[in-house]
Amino acid sequence: MTADVLVIGAGIIGSAVAESSARRGLRVQVLEAGIPAAGTTAAGMGHLVVLDDNPAELALSRDGLARWQSRRHELPCRAEYRACGTLWLARDSAELAEAERKQALLRQYGLESQLLTADGLQRCEPALVKGLAGALLRADEAVLYPPVASRWLLSYAEAMGASLLRNAEASQVHEDGSVVLSNGRTLRAAQIVIAAGNQSSRLLPGLPLKPRKGQLLITERYPALVHHQLVELGYIRSAHSNDGDSVAFNVQPRATGQLLIGSSRQYQDLAPDLDWALLQRMLARAAEYLPDLSGLQALRGWTGFRPATPDKLPLLGRVPGSQRLWLATGHEGLGITTALASGELLADLLCNTRPSIDPHPYDPARFDTWTAATPLQTVEVAATC
Ligand SMILES: Cc1cc2nc3c(=O)[nH]c(=O)nc-3n(C[C@H](O)[C@H](O)[C@H](O)COP(=O)(O)OP(=O)(O)OC[C@H]3O[C@@H](n4cnc5c(N)ncnc54)[C@H](O)[C@@H]3O)c2cc1C
Repeated sequence: MTADVLVIGAGIIGSAVAESSARRGLRVQVLEAGIPAAGTTAAGMGHLVVLDDNPAELALSRDGLARWQSRRHELPCRAEYRACGTLWLARDSAELAEAERKQALLRQYGLESQLLTADGLQRCEPALVKGLAGALLRADEAVLYPPVASRWLLSYAEAMGASLLRNAEASQVHEDGSVVLSNGRTLRAAQIVIAAGNQSSRLLPGLPLKPRKGQLLITERYPALVHHQLVELGYIRSAHSNDGDSVAFNVQPRATGQLLIGSSRQYQDLAPDLDWALLQRMLARAAEYLPDLSGLQALRGWTGFRPATPDKLPLLGRVPGSQRLWLATGHEGLGITTALASGELLADLLCNTRPSIDPHPYDPARFDTWTAATPLQTVEVAATC
């Protein structure tokens, strides 16, 4: 059988594309070089959060969060979905003004939030350092455990007829719809979606994508110490900076009672090892907000690499100049939140259906680096939805 859609990569993005495509009746085949959801997806924090640095980021993250919320009861318990809410912490009056700006902007998009005074914040999270100016509470945001949510999406796709080929590393993609595996086997499909995370640029040289290292640390169980996902308002500056190493306070209460502590961002360091100096900086920053942290027992630390584009928006759409090749990658630090929105958007594009959000800001053709890549031979392909 020749698939309608061949998805390369079974991380959360490939799994979401497979699920949305299978739901539309397309015959889907997924190729995974390693273990499904064991790439960046397994390293992520799983905070489902609306970010508002620009309208396109806001649109995709709002749509992604809404889709997770509407499917939360379908998720297995092991996915640990918890609507714990996000507290954006303001240290001083300038950050409080930023919280007010954020609240006004989110309201324009129908997203409600609540400003907390310093006292209100202390009542809400007594473990936080005294003297913070206040916070913005986004009560309907959530957390989940990404690898389980990702595998759930994949098994949903399989239940609708999609097939998964494991230990199948794509080594070449061609405009005629063929994919050559590293074992020499060739597969064919009407459309090919490259959702291979950071490795996507191996298949498409010239792709504007860079790995951006992050590290996390998880503690032993300390239930009820923290109740919300806690993020400093300065996080956005760290997430959107384009150079240098940065850290920001970001702590998540896991369903197990553990605390997941983040986060850092690095472009230059491509080694998978923990960077102890940066980890120390990250923990020192965290202890400024949560003084009790220094007395907690850490269990494990790890690193992961966010697939980042120059404008931090994902690449969702057709490869420029191609009829059969599509991209679904480059989600940086928001791929868990935006997975369902991305899967739907790409499936709509594959089926030539109008997406519910404007696809143009994510169109890979927005970057001119493509001129460096090999020109693709154009082949006419009819949509088969
Ligand atoms: C420290 C950290 C914290 C994060 N926190 C959050 C958060 O709180 N909230 C949020 O929304 N996002 C978060 N993210 C971001 C999120 O984890 C990623 O955006 C998302 O997991 C990317 O998923 P992906 O499917 O594109 O990539 P991956 O998960 O890497 O999946 C790609 C898959 O493709 C496979 N593959 C690669 N090459 C080939 C090939 N040639 N042939 C076949 N298969 C191939 C790989 O084996 C892999 O399984 C975080 C990321 C990090 C690193």
